[in-house]
Amino acid sequence: KRVSKAETFAVQVLQMLTQSNHKQTYRFVPTTSVPVDPQRVEAILKQEWELFTKSTGKSAEESCRSFKSLPLGVTSSFQHWDPYPISIVSAKGAYMTDVDGRQLLDLSMGFGAMFAGHLNPTVVEEIQGALTTGMLFVTPSPTSTDAAEMICKRFEIDQVRFTNSGTESTMYAVRVARSASDKMGILKVEGGYHGSYDPFVVSAKPPLDKAGDPEEPTAVMDSNLVPGDIYVVPYNNAPALEAMFEKNASKIACFIVEPVLENLAIILPDAGYLERVRELCDEYNVILIFDEVKTGLTAGAHGASVRLGVEPDLITLAKSIGGGVPLAAFGGKKKYMDFVTNGKMAHFGTFNGNPLAMAGVRAIDRLCSDQALADAEALNQQALDRISEIIDEYQLPAHTVGFGVKGCVTWSTTPVRNYRDYKATDFGIAEAHWLFALNRGIITPPGLDEQWLISLAHGQTEIDLLVEDFRDFAKALRA
Ligand code: PMP
Repeated sequence: KRVSKAETFAVQVLQMLTQSNHKQTYRFVPTTSVPVDPQRVEAILKQEWELFTKSTGKSAEESCRSFKSLPLGVTSSFQHWDPYPISIVSAKGAYMTDVDGRQLLDLSMGFGAMFAGHLNPTVVEEIQGALTTGMLFVTPSPTSTDAAEMICKRFEIDQVRFTNSGTESTMYAVRVARSASDKMGILKVEGGYHGSYDPFVVSAKPPLDKAGDPEEPTAVMDSNLVPGDIYVVPYNNAPALEAMFEKNASKIACFIVEPVLENLAIILPDAGYLERVRELCDEYNVILIFDEVKTGLTAGAHGASVRLGVEPDLITLAKSIGGGVPLAAFGGKKKYMDFVTNGKMAHFGTFNGNPLAMAGVRAIDRLCSDQALADAEALNQQALDRISEIIDEYQLPAHTVGFGVKGCVTWSTTPVRNYRDYKATDFGIAEAHWLFALNRGIITPPGLDEQWLISLAHGQTEIDLLVEDFRDFAKALRA
């Protein structure tokens, strides 16, 4: 039989979509699955919410108290969920203790900021050392130059500036791009999150009834934002990016994108996508910013860009690079950072590069050898493989995705490649899975994206807990 062009194309697309080991990323999509009865999911949710409220009385009390002084009772709106979130009193290694005295396995690890583990002895030692020599100089210091050299070497960039949060870093990176290009437009992907600066809130998780055509998404913005000139494209869609550039490149300063999307569970780049992004940015004179706030060291000892072999013009870093201390950075090619040097791009900050944060960098540099990262990743791979086997065994409508030390179960039978695919996943089962684990002492990030993180403090015991809990959940789904 002659194979038509359309058929060949379809086969190629399918291969591209299901490829699991493109540049050491992980995706396992089982070939068969059986739907889960929605009534079963409803029943689990009902039972698990009852169990939750029964076993977390003190968290409920704390939530009531905190609502009076803190909006939603939390210090960042991400931390809230209904009816109330768990309130934590202490953390060590891979575990946290809540106000009800329960020990919880932490698989969120501060969204990656606690990658070294809670109260890692090396981090504590470096910080205690810093506390004997001064907390803030607001002058140059050998400690900040040492830390800058470590970051530049590790992430293979020319220059870096320190900030205090990921939001600041992405804001400054965009400002560098605007200064360097004399253009004001910002391009981001639909569903992409880069912190809470106005332009990045646009289409962060837009309601589908406002989001428009999947190929040419509408930039959805709240009325309280002053985002400027913002453009939105779907992830993993080079033709849509090219079409966007053809029309608007003369106005677009930069394209900011996570190399691997880690705010919609985990969405991997299709084979060749990031390479094509790099080519198109060069062709249309658009500065490419990789937001590595979440990937960073969790992607490997040198970050996602180095690992995936695509060099951006600027990168933003935060979370994992500080050992748990508030620290972030932006940096990249000297020809762009020169706009900080020549004063066209203003970058100031009282606490930038403070000695405690620099102590965090020193600790991380000591801890994050290639070997240490590879060991943590091997544990993550083991968890992913074992969970994939359980998905297969119970024929669940789900698949596993992983990158570096992070992994997730995505409740869909086909690969998720962009925001619209993500929105089509089963959020009911995702919620039931998250809550089931929480009631059995395992805490993953709120938000139902179920991305777990294997830190330097996790070992075989913790992997077994994660996997066996998933098995129990699979049994409950099929009961
Ligand atoms: N970029 C990405 C990709 C993020 O995930 C986040 C926070 N989750 C930020 C930027 C903002 O970082 P921060 O919360 O430190 O401001």
